[in-house]
Order: sequence, then structure tokens, then C-alpha cells
Amino acid sequence: MISPTLTNRKFILAQRPIGLPTRSDIQYKEEVVRPLSDGEILIKNYFLSLDPAIRGWMDEVKSYLPPIVVGEAMRGTTIGKVVESKNPEFGQGDLVMGLNGWEDYSISTGYVGPNKMGVIEDTYGLPWEYFLSVLGPTGLTAYFGLLDVAKPKAGETILVSAAAGAVGSIVGQIGKLKGCHVVGIAGSAEKCDWLKQTLGFDAAINYKNTTDLANAIHQACPKGVDIYFENVGGEFLDAALVNMNNFGRIAMCGLIANYNSTDPVPGPYNLWQIIVKSLTVKGFLIRDFVDKFPPAFGDISVWVNDGFIQHRDHVVDGLENAYDAFLMLFDGSNQGKLTVKISDQD
Ligand code: NDP
Repeated sequence: MISPTLTNRKFILAQRPIGLPTRSDIQYKEEVVRPLSDGEILIKNYFLSLDPAIRGWMDEVKSYLPPIVVGEAMRGTTIGKVVESKNPEFGQGDLVMGLNGWEDYSISTGYVGPNKMGVIEDTYGLPWEYFLSVLGPTGLTAYFGLLDVAKPKAGETILVSAAAGAVGSIVGQIGKLKGCHVVGIAGSAEKCDWLKQTLGFDAAINYKNTTDLANAIHQACPKGVDIYFENVGGEFLDAALVNMNNFGRIAMCGLIANYNSTDPVPGPYNLWQIIVKSLTVKGFLIRDFVDKFPPAFGDISVWVNDGFIQHRDHVVDGLENAYDAFLMLFDGSNQGKLTVKISDQD
């Protein structure tokens, strides 16, 4: 039974942003948790995942999920525990992962659009928060985007953008496990060093230190690019296209360079390359692969437990810091998978 005085701290979408979200767009609020209706569960959130996709959900546009409603909680994936249930599919004490709010307590029916809340039955001996990162949406995106969409073969060259981020860093390491030559593009010397020295990438390009990205890719990929794993878009896609080999594959994962654009985004200009090189360009969403998650959990947990895959979680302490943390995704100051710790586990 929910205490009638249980208070929820939350961030709401106060208005739709134009460009980079401001503090007026995302506002802090406190309110008492209402009683549950039939079919609902109450979740106590421990960790919140901050993802570039949230920026898209703030806009009033037709997409793969309904937009966040103005006045309601900002949306994000959380790990939490069911503290009360009026839904037979979820029991009190279940550890759940799914789309909830930037808040201490979320009330859910178990669905947002077609996305269903998952119950984590086996943590593979790993910390819960890994289910927001390497074993969660970003690790799984890397796994399926590379293995099912791009289908690498040993000896091929993989180029990945936003390579030091949550998705990109895992893409590159799985590529190395599959025997590929892996090149990352990232936004600082420190990130490039980490990719090469810690994660085993063959080369890394600091795009902020490069005036000719296409040429930098050419230098780092002397045999051309067989797979481009796209997380950024814009000029990155153009520079990759001119370096693709015949029959290359481009896995379209994300276009973060566009997410805060207020003007129409230019280009890409080099689409002709898709024709003359017989390229395959394929978009995907992680939810396309939901039926195949269990074997992927098995593979990734073994790679993590055996030290074949490393990852870094950038954990910001305190829900109150969620807005400032979210902006890190767009200036590159996050060092790995960005999450917010909302509460200690009890
Ligand atoms: P990251 O951890 O990679 O963080 C975002 C990074 O993107 C920043 O650290 C920054 O790194 C880079 N970046 C930001 N703005 C720009 C810019 N204008 N130009 C170049 N680089 C930029 O985030 P994720 O790993 O969570 O997400 C990576 C991509 O994957 C995103 O596009 C996201 O939307 C997509 N995605 C897609 C999914 C799907 O189902 N298709 C699921 C999950 C994520 P740097 O310092 O290198 O600039």
C-alpha cells in the first residue's frame, strides 16, 4: 500500500525545445505519488539511462514512439524494483528495466507504445546498472547492429563514429573479436587513446583535430571501409561514403549531429557512392531484435566476465543533476555510457 505522503521528485517536459534543450524546457517538480489503478505497477527507480534518443522524443514529430507529453515526466530507460503491483505480469520485488520517467517513482502499465518493460531474472553476476549499458540498450544495439545488420567477416575493415561512446565502444570491441580491422572516430585525444590503448582499436581519428575527415579515414583504413557503423551523420557520413569498398555495408544506428538542429540538415552529398559501389545501407532499432535478446545476454555477459569486452559507465550521482548530465551527450563530455544514480539499492 503506497504511503499517502510518498513524494516523487521528477523532471517534466515543460515545453518543446528549439535546438539544445534549456532549463525552461526541462523543469524539476515534486508531487505526492497517486494510488495505483488496476493494471499498473509502482517502480522505485535506482538508475536512469540518458540517451541521445530522448532528444527526439521531446519533439512533436511522428516517430517510432509517441512524443513525451508536455507537462509529463521526461522519458528514459530505468532500472528499478516493483514496490507495488496491480498487474498480474509483475510481482512485488521484481527487478525491471524499461521506459519510465526521470523520477524517483514511476507508475507504469508495463508498456510505452509497443515497448514492454522487461523483468531481469538473471543478472549473470554483474551489477544491475550494466543492464542500462553493456548488457542493456546500448550494448545490445552494438551487438545486433554489427552482427545482424552489418554482418562482419574476419579481415574486413570497420569504421565507427561516436566510437568512444556507449554504443560505438562496444561495436569496435565486438569487431575485434570477429577478427576485423577497427577504426574509431571520436572527439578528443583522450578518447582516441582509450580506444587504441585500452580497447584495442587499430586506429582512432580525433575529428576535432582534423580538417579533412575523408582523408583521415583514408589514411587509417588503407584497404578501404567494408562496414561503416553510423552514429553521427552529417559530414561524417559523406566522408565515410567516399571511402567505402564495393559491396560495403552501412549500419544506420543514429544521427546525433542532427538531433539539435534548428535548420534543415545539409547533405549527404555523396549518395552516388551507394550506387557505384553497390552499397547496402540499412537502418535499425534495437527493439527490432527483442526476441533475440536472451542469447545476446549470454554472449555479452561471457565477454564481459572474461574480460574480452571493457566498457566505461559515466555515472552522475543524484536525480537533481539529470538535466546537466543530459547535455553532456551533445558536447561530448560524457566518458562512456551516461547514467544517473537515483537511489542506493535496498
Ligand atoms: P554516446 O555515449 O556515444 O554519447 C554521444 C556522443 O556522440 C558524445 O559523447 C559525442 O562524442 C558524440 N557527439 C555528440 N554530438 C556530436 C556531433 N555533433 N558530431 C559528432 N559527434 C557528436 O551515445 P550512445 O552510444 O548512447 O548513442 C550513440 C548513437 O547511437 C546515437 O546516435 C544514438 O541515437 C544511437 N542509438 C541508436 C539506437 C538504435 O536502436 N538505433 C539505440 C541506442 C543509440 P565525441 O566526443 O566523440 O564527439
